[in-house]
Amino acid sequence: MLKAENIHRYFGHLEVLKGVNLEVNKGEIVSIVGASGAGKSTLLHILGTLDKAEKGHIFIDGESVSKLSKNDLARFRNQKIGFIFQFHNLLPEFTAIENVCLPAYLAGVDKETAELEAQHLLDRLGLGHRMNHKPAELSGGEQQRVAVARALINKPAIIFADEPSGNLDSKGAQNLHTLFFELRDEMGLTFVIVTHNPELAEMTDRKLEMRDGQIIESSVTPE
Ligand code: ADP
Ligand code: MG
Repeated sequence: MLKAENIHRYFGHLEVLKGVNLEVNKGEIVSIVGASGAGKSTLLHILGTLDKAEKGHIFIDGESVSKLSKNDLARFRNQKIGFIFQFHNLLPEFTAIENVCLPAYLAGVDKETAELEAQHLLDRLGLGHRMNHKPAELSGGEQQRVAVARALINKPAIIFADEPSGNLDSKGAQNLHTLFFELRDEMGLTFVIVTHNPELAEMTDRKLEMRDGQIIESSVTPE
């Protein structure tokens, strides 16, 4: 589903990624752990095509993303990739369902179809009764589940999450982690999750450790 080869990223003279190689299979949930400043967010942005590496290649769902034109890349990203961030980045002036519909509108889906799908997703995530509320009227856990619904609306192949539970209490974090595994089982989704949460990292199929711009360790989590 995802393959990254020899990824290098520099910020000025600072080499932040020093030749990262990574492969993730369809339906796998992989975690990336490591100290702050190790390059995890930089890597995730590059894998998710939000940022570009100076060197290296990325393949997602069979597509060589480095070869896509700017417009094709934007379309590819909107349809194939979902993002979940530590802070949900929901638009405060829009309701939950409106936030969830936005990526579908960008993909050219009509209002009625988008709203039906958004309703279905929000129901599935236990937010059926909260869909017409704005983000400020929702709890942290609810806001993050709206962000999950937004990430799912275009039926992506892969989800990148950067410290998705970093801002939640332990119950909210647990619920969100459980949800990721349920979604993988229901939809065959693939997840790459940067996390400081040791419980989540131990639950994942594989835990990768980043140190100083490289992946130094890959361990298969025992059943
Ligand atoms: P992590 O997510 O593991 O905490 P980051 O990927 O955010 O680490 O950052 C890795 C290093 O790259 C840090 O030293 C950070 O200061 C630097 N860095 C990240 N983004 C930028 C940027 N846009 N410009 C300059 N330096 C950056
Ligand atoms: Mg980070």
